[in-house]
Amino acid sequence: MESEIPRGPWPAAAFGKGNSSPNLPSPQSAKAAFPLPPAGNFRSKGKRRAAAAGPRQIANPAPLHYNNTRQRLIHKIIHNMLTTNACSVDGGNETGAKRMIDHTEHERWMREAIAEARKAQDIGEVPIGAVIVHEGEIIGRGHNLRESSLDPTAHAEIIAIREASRAKSAWRLSGCTLYVTLEPCPMCAGAIVQSRIDTVVFAAADPKAGCCGTLMNLLQEERFNHRCEIVEGVLREECAELLSHFFRNLRNSKKGG
Ligand SMILES: [Zn+2]
Repeated sequence: MESEIPRGPWPAAAFGKGNSSPNLPSPQSAKAAFPLPPAGNFRSKGKRRAAAAGPRQIANPAPLHYNNTRQRLIHKIIHNMLTTNACSVDGGNETGAKRMIDHTEHERWMREAIAEARKAQDIGEVPIGAVIVHEGEIIGRGHNLRESSLDPTAHAEIIAIREASRAKSAWRLSGCTLYVTLEPCPMCAGAIVQSRIDTVVFAAADPKAGCCGTLMNLLQEERFNHRCEIVEGVLREECAELLSHFFRNLRNSKKGG
């Protein structure tokens, strides 16, 4: 059976002026003779939908506990299943209660980190604060002092790690949990791995420098000799608001001055 693709003759409109090969239409005239659907049909619908929806929001009110990227993914899948199926709540009371205790405990220490962030804000520094907790006690505190000390390494986490190491008389901070209001940067994530801190709890993710799962995950890099547990999102809104309020004021004062 003959192929159903027409071999010609091509419609007259398909041949352009001066086309050296009369059997082939020029691209322009072919377009006119065989018009394609509007360009809009070829755009990625996903991209357009995403653009219309604005910046991506992570809809996860509870903090996430995970030891690696795969656990994080599984947690998100389970979270989505639980939030879309009311029956799944049955039988989950024990886990729910444990998470509630953890969350309250995390919030308690995160409030201490927020208090540190406010100290930074009071002296015109970007409001980021951190505390290090060992056996139910704060052994290190720090807030951002980059501007006042003219030191690019004077981040809240680094200052808290130094204080905790002095308190423990050891560089190794095993058994410690670090609470910080903003996701640690690559330098601080490196210091956290070096100090062997067990768990890092952070509030807001940092899309510009976050190296605990946002831009990369240095705390759970398989090739390093130490990995941390990460808890994300404890008092996220409060800490994010602290930062956005600071930068809003800064912009307004620059406009005014
Ligand atoms: Zn940092």
